[in-house]
Amino acid sequence: MIPDLGDRSLFPPFLELPEDNGASSSSSSSSSATPADSNAVLLAQIKDNMTITKPTLVLTDRDGHGFALVFDGLDRDGLDLGKLGLKKGATAVVRGARQTVPAARSNEQSAQPETLTAKAARRQFLRIAPGQAHTVQAVPTGLEQTIAIAATLRAQQTRTLAEGCSHCAACGVSGSPGAAGAAAAAGAAETQGLSIKKLLRCTGCGQAWYCDRACQTKGWSNGHKSECKALKALSAIWSE
Ligand SMILES: [Zn+2]
Ligand SMILES: [Zn+2]
Repeated sequence: MIPDLGDRSLFPPFLELPEDNGASSSSSSSSSATPADSNAVLLAQIKDNMTITKPTLVLTDRDGHGFALVFDGLDRDGLDLGKLGLKKGATAVVRGARQTVPAARSNEQSAQPETLTAKAARRQFLRIAPGQAHTVQAVPTGLEQTIAIAATLRAQQTRTLAEGCSHCAACGVSGSPGAAGAAAAAGAAETQGLSIKKLLRCTGCGQAWYCDRACQTKGWSNGHKSECKALKALSAIWSE
């Protein structure tokens, strides 16, 4: 089942990520700081592509905090960010995320006002180690919408588990999902003496079921159009 993306302990904002102290530079990639050390998954909305020498995105986390995400070990054309769905307005999902603190930064926030240059020089960022680009995935909707769509999917998955049947996403009638789960759901319904309707699965996302084409068309114009691709991305990221 898809996790609760609204849960801040599972999906912390940038400033609550574990720190990567930056001691291991690109030359010593095999040492201590492997991304697997952190279970944190960061959700952040992509504001811009700021690639100059390395693939670089500017992101905003759930608290509105802005930071840069840098793919280390790749040159500026080393990654097709657009093809990966990492576009402006989309949500980036980063597994094993750590904040990298520039070496010059003092541990205590200074109470003194700083110059803009000094602030920029010690701004934290998110470094993706060489070979770890696959830990960054994309959902093609903004952060708030992504969290809302995930919550809807989670509620639907919970209900399907609890009731042993699926529901038409347009009219709400219960039925058996057309594919793999069909036998078990139909069996459960037969013991209750019901004849169960066989629902059709949306081939776009595989996460919505409908009675027939008419219900699918209705569901599409009632909002599934704006959610289908996000549902596909979310279910692919959390399918394993
Ligand atoms: Zn229906
Ligand atoms: Zn769909």
